[in-house]
Amino acid sequence: MNGSSHQEPMTLESGATAAVIGGGPAGAFFALHLLRRARQLHRDVRVLIFERRRAATGTALPCGPGSWKGCNYCAGGISPKLNDVLADLGLRLPEAVIQSRIHSITIQGFWKNIELEVPAGRDMLSVYRGSRPVRRPDRFHSFDSFLLEEALKAGAELLSGEVVDVRRAGDGKPLIRRRANGADIETPADLAVFAVGVNEVANASASGTPVLQALRRLLPDFVPPRLRRALIFELEGQPGLPASLADAIHFVEYGSKSLPLEMCSLVPKRDFLTVVLVGASIDAATRCEGNREILKQFLELPHIRKLIAPGVRLTPACACSPNMVVGSAKNPFGDRVAAVGDLVTARLYKDGILSAYLTAQALAETVLTTGIDARSLQEGYGPTLRRFARDNRFAAVVFLLHRVFFSSSVLSRVLYQAAITERKTTPRADRRLEQILWRIASGDDEYQAIFRAMVHPATVWSILTGGMLITLRNYLTELVFGLRWEGFGRFTTGVPLERLEAKRREFARLIADASVAVPEKLEFERMYTIQIRASRERILEQLGRFGEADRRYLRPRWVQIRRAAGVPLTPGCVIRYEVFCRHFAFSLILEQVVGGHLAVYRVQNGFAEGGVLIFEIEQRNEETCALSIYVAFNFARGRRWWTRPFCQFFRRLFPAFVHDVLWNHSLCRLKDLVETDHEKADRPSAACCTEPIASTAND
Ligand SMILES: Cc1cc2nc3c(=O)[nH]c(=O)nc-3n(C[C@H](O)[C@H](O)[C@H](O)COP(=O)(O)OP(=O)(O)OC[C@H]3O[C@@H](n4cnc5c(N)ncnc54)[C@H](O)[C@@H]3O)c2cc1C
Repeated sequence: MNGSSHQEPMTLESGATAAVIGGGPAGAFFALHLLRRARQLHRDVRVLIFERRRAATGTALPCGPGSWKGCNYCAGGISPKLNDVLADLGLRLPEAVIQSRIHSITIQGFWKNIELEVPAGRDMLSVYRGSRPVRRPDRFHSFDSFLLEEALKAGAELLSGEVVDVRRAGDGKPLIRRRANGADIETPADLAVFAVGVNEVANASASGTPVLQALRRLLPDFVPPRLRRALIFELEGQPGLPASLADAIHFVEYGSKSLPLEMCSLVPKRDFLTVVLVGASIDAATRCEGNREILKQFLELPHIRKLIAPGVRLTPACACSPNMVVGSAKNPFGDRVAAVGDLVTARLYKDGILSAYLTAQALAETVLTTGIDARSLQEGYGPTLRRFARDNRFAAVVFLLHRVFFSSSVLSRVLYQAAITERKTTPRADRRLEQILWRIASGDDEYQAIFRAMVHPATVWSILTGGMLITLRNYLTELVFGLRWEGFGRFTTGVPLERLEAKRREFARLIADASVAVPEKLEFERMYTIQIRASRERILEQLGRFGEADRRYLRPRWVQIRRAAGVPLTPGCVIRYEVFCRHFAFSLILEQVVGGHLAVYRVQNGFAEGGVLIFEIEQRNEETCALSIYVAFNFARGRRWWTRPFCQFFRRLFPAFVHDVLWNHSLCRLKDLVETDHEKADRPSAACCTEPIASTAND
């Protein structure tokens, strides 16, 4: 630490000037907090913000006042916690700045998809931080521009231009030199706050730029935080982004053997999809050429092609490889000088803007209430930075475990299964795994708390029982029935506990409307549902193949399913099931087809005689339908005295889970078939066209 020999703390005196170098989130939050707190404490402080991406107030910019030049190299995810902070500060993001309101986060590891809904009362948004990509019609509105404007409204003054040097004047106070309109201007200050981030020059390391060299001269022991390269690019949806991607963030936790990736985030914007990649292939890439190749390979990954909505043309609009903070700076303050935001630290892989706020707030509070010398900063600001460093040590373990699970096909299946089991058996508020995954994905808790929850015996128990054992059982079932999962994803099809009653009522209403007789006091009742990005007609088309010899779903070994009579999807059509042999058989007869959204089959004989199998297709939005299945029956009692004990025995041993496994596989396969057919029909070209892309420059 750059020590101070002062016995008395140096304070920010009345009328003192704080120079904030960089008007990104850290700089703007610092200014806001300092000015508001100073007012509360009846202190008079002048705050100057030096920002090179915005012209000074009143200056006409080609893109209008308040707008921002260039890019801030960020996916623009606004976490629930950051939303809380903005609300506490009384800052309401204008609608024009909000690009998307996020309803769900999907985590995908080795074709297993765990969808997490944003809980009630939590808000997640996406925004653009700057004015890129240039083709954006709404490029004059950005988060950084809004935040800086709020700081200016609070009383800060904006000095535009690039800060090229900061040195100490004769009295030890900082002297800031900026370059604006070709001239160098020096401005004295009592305190210099470095909020320049770690991407002062895109595609450059944090060490070599003039402002950082200046910081190093002021704080010779300063060591910048450890950085890791990311690749960020924008895909433009033509026309617009499909509804299936528009309000969901996707985290894909793997790439391929030739493209090793640790994390891929897909964040929706109004007309674009922002993609951030982190991993070994990004670490190793040699700048522009390498990035272009990675982008191309990424878009060709089978699981990414499946994820990106079929029929949608996505054109790369711009790309760059900025630095991400993955460590903490050493000795980031001294007498009258301190760093905030990315330049000191950030929460690992999450919530950099919130981190900027937390460091800025702690520094502002310290300089007002403790002092601006090294010792005061150590005393007031140091603990916050140490908390970040400690929490990030837990973060490293959390992400290691997360990666170990999601990058292994076996472990990702165990976790996926454990999450499904929990969803089907435990009330939402008590779901440990779901909450852990949500908190990691959204940044909605400290890593230390997440780590504790991860290693809690109850979590381990639910992974062992709800995950490992059930995976083993289901795996063996899939082996027996010859179900293969190559080339398509697993999605949860069981109805979560909290929706079960509503779904049951929904089916009861549909059944009543269609005057379908259903046995009373059901002994077996199952519901499954899956979202399919296709029209009702296309789903019906596949359902019409139920029982056909060349259908590509519901083809378990040992179970012969064939259309024995009638016309597909027409009442009277008979589907015959033979399980293991001809003697163990039953038939389904299509009783009703209602309005192209409901097909009711009745079980004619066998162990489930009188029961129903109902397919329902519900249009969710323009592009997506939910296909649900309802199965309900009472076990046959046996007609003769000698068959009754056998029926009793069968009822007790009926392996309901086999039914679940077969239908889960069939529905996921059907989804894939419908979506792929849809893709072929609607899109003559490849999933994504990789036209030459613009590298984001610094304007
Ligand atoms: C690929 C990627 C994706 C990310 N996604 C997210 C996300 O979704 N959500 C999230 O919360 N965080 C995300 N982050 C992290 C987040 O971007 C940073 O943590 C955050 O921007 C840090 O804010 P800052 O103010 O410290 O720095 P910056 O945002 O970098 O701001 C620094 C400011 O200083 C200005 N400046 C720099 N040098 C000078 C100079 N010499 N003179 C004058 N002005 C100067 C710059 O123009 C800039 O405005 C992401 C980071 C990366 C790399």
